[in-house]
Amino acid sequence: MTERQQQALQIAIDGPAGAGKSTIAKIVAKKLHLFYIDTGAMYRAIAYKALKSGAPLNDESKISQIAKTTKVVLDHSDERLVWCDGENVTQAIRNPEISRAVSVVASYQGVRERLVELQRMEAKRGGVVMDGRDIGTHVLPDADYKIFLTATSEERARRRWVELSKAGNVVTYDEVARDMLKRDRSDTEREVSPLRPAQDAIILDTTGLSVEELVAEIIMLTQEDES
Ligand code: C5P
Repeated sequence: MTERQQQALQIAIDGPAGAGKSTIAKIVAKKLHLFYIDTGAMYRAIAYKALKSGAPLNDESKISQIAKTTKVVLDHSDERLVWCDGENVTQAIRNPEISRAVSVVASYQGVRERLVELQRMEAKRGGVVMDGRDIGTHVLPDADYKIFLTATSEERARRRWVELSKAGNVVTYDEVARDMLKRDRSDTEREVSPLRPAQDAIILDTTGLSVEELVAEIIMLTQEDES
């Protein structure tokens, strides 16, 4: 791949919660010298701001207004800090409370329009690996590679539970599994840009696969086209 091609390369990684998107996307981006854009972090930042403001979550116009006036910045250092109106929210947006609120916020057209605009602007900075729910279908419909990661719901809930427990959250596996299924349902059934694979996406089931195996598979895909 020439440097010029690499600068314009777009890899879209979509899938439900706990499918391994961010872990895989981060490593692939690093190996291919691309920017990594975690679009879920942007929706989480808006959910954080909405909860902090005390606005009722069912007030679509108020939440959309919050999305329009909130400055969300993803930093591209190894720390991957997330800033919301100048506040470092990197840890706070991973709380179960935010996970429960985020899919309501993400179902609003006004919120999505604003964040999709930011995501496309980020993609203009150079080659990207972008992960989310609607990247291949909506945000970057011309992406060079569209990957849709899945895994069984048990495996996804187990991964998320381990991650949350390691970060010091006191949650049971059952709570995590219940919240995750609810979020998946909301993401899949919403009217605006629902979670689904793009027609030309490559679907990879990550159940039982190691991170190394998945990364190698995706890197191989990008190299197959070179030969
Ligand atoms: O990726 P993550 O699990 O952090 O995403 C949190 C939530 O943000 C998702 O459950 C979904 O409601 C929303 N989201 C979205 N579209 C994206 C990325 C995330 O609707 N592109």
